[in-house]
Amino acid sequence: MEDIAVIGIVINSMPYKEKDKLIHIFTVELGKITATLKGVSSPKAKLKFAGQPFCFGKFELSPSGEFYVVKGVELIDSFYDLTADYAKFSLASLMLEACSIILKPNIISESLFICLIKSLQNLVYNGLNEYIIVLKFLITIFELIGYGLNFNVCDNCGMRFMGDIKFDRESGTFRCSACSGGIKISARDFMNIKLISTTDYDKLSTLKLQNDSIKTGIKLMIQNLSHKLNVKFKSIDVELL
Ligand SMILES: [Zn+2]
Repeated sequence: MEDIAVIGIVINSMPYKEKDKLIHIFTVELGKITATLKGVSSPKAKLKFAGQPFCFGKFELSPSGEFYVVKGVELIDSFYDLTADYAKFSLASLMLEACSIILKPNIISESLFICLIKSLQNLVYNGLNEYIIVLKFLITIFELIGYGLNFNVCDNCGMRFMGDIKFDRESGTFRCSACSGGIKISARDFMNIKLISTTDYDKLSTLKLQNDSIKTGIKLMIQNLSHKLNVKFKSIDVELL
């Protein structure tokens, strides 16, 4: 088979054989793929940088057995500044992990890819609140996998929301106080999650919200995603939330 060029970002990497690395790349064209980086464990290897998560670029791949072999990488961005800020790095890792979790083989999602890159750029270059960025990203994921949240009516009885609102972990939906199930969430947290959900990526910088409320939203979304897809997130540091 012929070599192919794809746009992608490295999700994670692990040592492989004696001097190689195995990387997962989220690509626009092929979804999530596994590829080997040959000889990159030696200090002077040319493609060493491609063994780092967040390496975003144009990858030249050669199909080989069950994996691809990376022949070359034209770097677009390494998002290097993330490494200088522990909180930002952890939250960015959480976004990569969320992509990895929902990208089953052969699932191709250019919209998810664009959201991820926009979120990383907002995080590294645009000085936006990192918790708002991550919550927006997680909410977008639910929309993309067909579980978009409904902020207007109770998912159970269809009544418009008034008064207390609950979040039902089993179904991953908001409910009114009259319906059974769910844990109560504050009106402020609910409004903040809704606000982030309805604000465009390009307008997120206009939001001024309190971190503790956004963190509650992130926790809710992570629990919801973990429950829906039956997975545990590894990258999230609970101290940050
Ligand atoms: Zn209801």
